[in-house]
Amino acid sequence: MPHGPSTDSPTPAPQRLLVIDDQRLDRAITTHAASRMGYAATAAASIAETRDLLEQGARFDIVVLDLLLGDEDGLEALPLLSQLNPSAVVVLASGFDGRILGASQRLASSLGLRVAGVLRKPILPTALQRMLRQNPGTQIVTTGPGLLIPPERLRAAIADGQIRPWFQPKMSLTSGTVVGTEALARWVKPGGQSIAPAAFIPVAEQNGLIADLTDTMLDQSLEACARWRRQRPDCWVAVNLSPLLLDDPGVTDRIEQRLQRHGVPPGALVLEVTENKGIPDTPCATKILTRLRIRGVNLSIDDFGTGHSSLLSLVRMPFNEMKIDQAFVREAVDSRDSRKVVRAAASLGRELGLKVVAEGVETQTMAHLVEDAGCHVGQGWLYGRAVPPDVFERQLAQPAETSDLAAVT
Ligand code: C2E
Ligand code: MG
Ligand code: MG
Repeated sequence: MPHGPSTDSPTPAPQRLLVIDDQRLDRAITTHAASRMGYAATAAASIAETRDLLEQGARFDIVVLDLLLGDEDGLEALPLLSQLNPSAVVVLASGFDGRILGASQRLASSLGLRVAGVLRKPILPTALQRMLRQNPGTQIVTTGPGLLIPPERLRAAIADGQIRPWFQPKMSLTSGTVVGTEALARWVKPGGQSIAPAAFIPVAEQNGLIADLTDTMLDQSLEACARWRRQRPDCWVAVNLSPLLLDDPGVTDRIEQRLQRHGVPPGALVLEVTENKGIPDTPCATKILTRLRIRGVNLSIDDFGTGHSSLLSLVRMPFNEMKIDQAFVREAVDSRDSRKVVRAAASLGRELGLKVVAEGVETQTMAHLVEDAGCHVGQGWLYGRAVPPDVFERQLAQPAETSDLAAVT
């Protein structure tokens, strides 16, 4: 949480980080590095010690797990975490080769745990720092998923217009021009501090506030899009839709009313449904998504590859866009297996006639890689971070030859 003069800030608290490592020296180095980075670091030397800590009620935001715990198998910690501390973000560490680390990462994901990435041992403090900084939800500036923000504060912030969309460009990989934008929620405090969504989306989801939050995001994003479309008629915007809303039959009408209110055609809206929390395979969810698609709204499966049901969701639900998760894109630079996953996902998406978007493109190397894999669109820091609406509007106003909103829609 940012520190500042605002009196209504949620209580700042360091994120809690657990190091599970049987080697005393490694354990001490990692714990020390984490403490120096501002985390509240705790150490455990074995699965039994980890179990004791969790059973006594300790909970962690981040867990750095050594896969080889002496005679024990570090993988055994994963079901334990999944059961008792499922919100933890896991960093896997080992001297093993990339393939074993990759398989362990997939196992953790299949248990519903979020994996920030894998680090080779010995863990270099700089590598740990880079990994934690790169992962939304593990930065010290957030309070950790759903922990310290009281729901009534969030409710008031939504009513008060403090939840705002910031916009990140999406780039056509063929023409190298801006083809659209994703609206990402920020809690902008009266003092100007902004809070990342990892700190408040889970609070909204767990406290019945996600529908109101999504309504305000839709309203503001469509209003901005309508404004941009006066200059750039092909402009479109993507808004994130929590899978929890797929249990609410009223969501379709609310979306359609907002499109009409702002005079934006359905084809100019993309709804990104997060895959990693699981897209419900229910008649209600199918009906909502199918109705939206029939009306012409675009549907994107977000964070593709991280959930339990990627392929089922793809086949059963009427998505017309796939976003390959940034974890694969990031790893593809060093891992041949991850490169194959990106290629396979992109070719599957193309075969199914979907627009394929690569997330988390941070470098030119990543851009070449995802372009080579057959992705149509790239999104990531290489092209631009999420910025407030007025800044994005200025970027859009650049000469027409530097952006081409019509290229991929
Ligand atoms: P997402 O929808 O997958 O959005 C992409 C996230 O990756 C964003 O984080 C974005 O800032 C970040 N990102 C983009 N390019 C790069 C890059 O090159 N490198 C790295 N390391 N990160 C990059 P952000 O804004 O923190 O959002 C995190 C997640 O919060 C989103 O993931 C989405 O699942 C959720 N979220 C954001 N806004 C909303 C919303 O209005 N409603 C719902 N339900 N969820 C939202
Ligand atoms: Mg998204
Ligand atoms: Mg995503």
